Amino acid sequence: MADLRTFFRSLEERHPRNASNIAGYIDRDGVFQWHVSGHDNLPAAVTVFDVVGKRTTGVVYTNLRKNHWLYTYTSGEGGNDLVYIDDKSASADAERIIGGVGNGKVRVLADDGPGPGPLRAPGGLYQAAKSLHDSQAPVKYEGENHTRDKGLHRALRYYMLAAYALLGKCRATEETDVWNYIAALLVDDEGRILSYGVNSGWFHHGETNMLLNYFRAHSNVATFPANTIVFSTLTPCKQCSTYLQGARPANSVIFIGQEDSGARGREGEKFGVHLSAVTDPIRYRTVTETWNNVVIGRKPPVGWAKVGEPITEKRRGEDKVEKHPLEEHLSKQMKEGASVADQIGRECQDILTHARGTFEYKSGKRRNNDGGEQSVKAQVLEYLNTWIASVNPQSSLRQVV
Ligand SMILES: [Zn+2]
Repeated sequence: MADLRTFFRSLEERHPRNASNIAGYIDRDGVFQWHVSGHDNLPAAVTVFDVVGKRTTGVVYTNLRKNHWLYTYTSGEGGNDLVYIDDKSASADAERIIGGVGNGKVRVLADDGPGPGPLRAPGGLYQAAKSLHDSQAPVKYEGENHTRDKGLHRALRYYMLAAYALLGKCRATEETDVWNYIAALLVDDEGRILSYGVNSGWFHHGETNMLLNYFRAHSNVATFPANTIVFSTLTPCKQCSTYLQGARPANSVIFIGQEDSGARGREGEKFGVHLSAVTDPIRYRTVTETWNNVVIGRKPPVGWAKVGEPITEKRRGEDKVEKHPLEEHLSKQMKEGASVADQIGRECQDILTHARGTFEYKSGKRRNNDGGEQSVKAQVLEYLNTWIASVNPQSSLRQVV
C-alpha cells in the first residue's frame, strides 16, 4: 500500500454507509492503523485518539466533514493532531484494522447502568424546565396549584447541585490526569439521569463525554431523547456547543451553572440559560455543623473572600449555618479572563467539597410526602442521593470504547 488518499477512497467504497467517518494513524512500523465508525455521533477519530493517546504518534488522518466539532481542539491550536485526508499527502507500508480497542489512554467518566430508576412522580420535569427557560426570569408562585411546579423548579436546582457534588467527589479521588472541573448531566422528563460526563482532558470535556457516553450506549439514534434537560456546570465551549447542537432534539433545554469568563465560554451562552438567572441561586453551607452526628460542613479556610450576601440561619438543635451562592463564589476564585476549565485550585476543591456536603445534607433530610412541592423534592433528592452514592469515580473512570 502506498498513498493514503487512495486507501481512504477504497475504504469509503467498502463502507458506503459510514463513508465519511474513517480515521487512522501511521504507527512506528509504517503501518496505517485504521477504524471506521458506524455512528455519526461517535467519530472514528475519537476512538483512534483514545487508543493512541495524545500526540504520541503524530497525526490522526480522517475524512470527517471539515466543520465537525472534533477539529476545534485537535487542529490548529499549536498542533495539527487531526488532519483532513485531502489536505496532506502521506503514505504507509501496510494497513491494519485497529485491534485491541479498549486499551485507550484517555479515560471518561461513564455511567455503568440505567441508574436506580425513574421518579415515582409522573414526570413533568421537562415542562417545568421549559417554562423556566422561556420565562428568562424567576417565576412567581401564587396559590396552592403552584406547589408542584415550585417543587419541580427546586428539583432542577438539585440536579445542578448534584453535578457540582459529582465534581467534589471526583476531586476527592485526586486523579492527577483528570481536571474534573466540568460536569454535565442528561436528565429525562421523569428525572432519570440518562448519561453524564466529567472533564477527562484535551477534547474530552464534560459535555462531550456525556454525549459520547450516551451514544456509545445507544448506537442507533441520531439525537439524544426528546423532553430532556442538560445540566452543565460551566458554559459549554465552542466544541461542546457544536456537538450539543448537532446531537440535541428540538424539545430539549440546556441549563448552565457557572459562567465561563474565558473566550472559549462564549459560544454556549447563545442557547443555554443560566439556572441562577431563572431560579434562586444555589447556595452551599460553610460553617461546621453536624446532622445526625455526622459532620456535613466545615469552616472555610482563612482568607476566603466573602462573595455575595451569605444567608445566616440558626436552627434549633443545630449550629449556625452560613450559605453562600455557589457559582459566584467559584468565579471569585478564578483568575480574571482565564478559562475556568484551565484552572482549579485548592479553594475551588474546597467549594466543591462544601457543595457535596450541602447536597448530602439536603438528601438526608426527611420531608413530608404531601403530593405537592415537598413530595417532588423528596423524591428527587432520594433518587439523586442513591445515584451519586452509586458513582465511584475511580472505577467509573474507565477506558474508552
Ligand atoms: Zn467544552
